[in-house]
Amino acid sequence: MLSLLTSCATSRSAPGARHEFTRPEMGLPFRIVLYAPDRLTATAAAEAAFARIHELNDVFSDYEYDSELSRLSRTAGSGQKVPVSEDLWRVLEQAQALAKRSDGAFDITVGPYVSLWRRARRLQRLPTPEWLERARAAVGYQHLRLDRRHHTAELLVPNMRLDLGAIAKGYAVEAAMTILRERGIRSALVGGGGDMAASGPPPGKKGWRIAVAPLDVPGAPPPRHVWLSHRAIATSGDLSQRLEIDGKRYSHIVDPKTGLGLTHHTLVTVIARDCTTADAMATTVSVLGQEGGVAFVKRIQGLAVHLVGQPADRIETEEAGGFARFYEVDANRP
Ligand code: AMP
Ligand code: MG
Repeated sequence: MLSLLTSCATSRSAPGARHEFTRPEMGLPFRIVLYAPDRLTATAAAEAAFARIHELNDVFSDYEYDSELSRLSRTAGSGQKVPVSEDLWRVLEQAQALAKRSDGAFDITVGPYVSLWRRARRLQRLPTPEWLERARAAVGYQHLRLDRRHHTAELLVPNMRLDLGAIAKGYAVEAAMTILRERGIRSALVGGGGDMAASGPPPGKKGWRIAVAPLDVPGAPPPRHVWLSHRAIATSGDLSQRLEIDGKRYSHIVDPKTGLGLTHHTLVTVIARDCTTADAMATTVSVLGQEGGVAFVKRIQGLAVHLVGQPADRIETEEAGGFARFYEVDANRP
């Protein structure tokens, strides 16, 4: 069934041919572009990569009742220390490290707030202070305890709900790229939603040319392009999912301090060495906002960030971590 949904396009170019595949996974289209000597090699590699993403959805999904994450969330407040799989462990560990480092701006325990946000979008009404208060009791990364020695997780408070929406896609993209590499594919681009990872450049090119998502407001500057190889890029903001009440826009990214969706309209693009980091950092910088986000990124090695926002009537762009060095500079590019 799934392979019927997969589309494949191939074009010839020395030294390898370009092959492109797309398939819906994790509720969004995933895309793989790769160079391989023949179609059979390309298809087998892409199939294996998609299968890996599919497998990860069974671990990370907060929609699927039976995912490993959902099962873990249901143990909240029970006193159980739950052994977790290697994939879930890695994501939980990285998420908790970032939660501490960002002073809780990034927080995968925001599940109860995200549920309220989804409800508010359905009802077109903000949650009442009572609902928010009730959710607040079940949110806080300090209530998620990880045991590094035994790889167990414990959710200390009842009604907690973990949400990996800000990091799992990036992890899946990275994991798919690892599969391609293991199969000998040296030049590939894997994308899912706003997250992308690039390995070696296409033959004869200096990198993969990728558009930085532009702000969707009138008068916004047109998209610029970056050249990436052996890097990942992720964009966060309220482009695809948002809630609008009384003329005010609430992003699907929640400020854990208020429990409500962000209202500052900022689009954040992060370039990092791996896609898990790029994904998680783009969300974190979104929560921290322009000033706090830039200061945060500057303290971390290997991160470049581009922010575009509309604080008042003006559109403001800011960059840090040497983002500009990824812009196209090659006037002779094909
Ligand atoms: P992204 O598109 O990568 O920025 O991720 C947004 C998603 O992450 C949301 O749809 C929520 O599922 C989840 N999320 C929302 N707010 C936060 C937050 N402050 N920290 C971590 N995850 C969040
Ligand atoms: Mg993210």
